Amino acid sequence: MSIFAAACPCGAASYDDCCGPLHRGAAGAETAEQLMRSRYAAYARHDEAYVFRTWHPRTRPDDLTPDPARVWLGLRVLDHGVDWVEFVASYEHHGHPGQLHERSRFEQRAGRWVYVDGDDVSGLSDRP
Ligand SMILES: [Zn+2]
Repeated sequence: MSIFAAACPCGAASYDDCCGPLHRGAAGAETAEQLMRSRYAAYARHDEAYVFRTWHPRTRPDDLTPDPARVWLGLRVLDHGVDWVEFVASYEHHGHPGQLHERSRFEQRAGRWVYVDGDDVSGLSDRP
């Protein structure tokens, strides 16, 4: 078995022990951070259905069609609380490297964590 092939996009060693069960619906995220990681992994794996169903209906966009030119490369969780996560997600877009630095907010609805919205805080991290 190739360790590389089984790695989780969120950075964990094993997709099957990490975000896989969440994507399959076999388990629910127990924390906001776990949900955030699984949503990143879903973006990386082009699982828009998972992104959609873990998004609060109040804030969720109608159209989640991904940009095929954007390739997600990695995730770093910088800090988190009970209902928020600050992270940096690296990507390449048309071959140009970029970073999304966001502080995301989450809520529990009927016992399940969902993403509400987030603030782009890239400007803060770019300060010298
Ligand atoms: Zn994962």
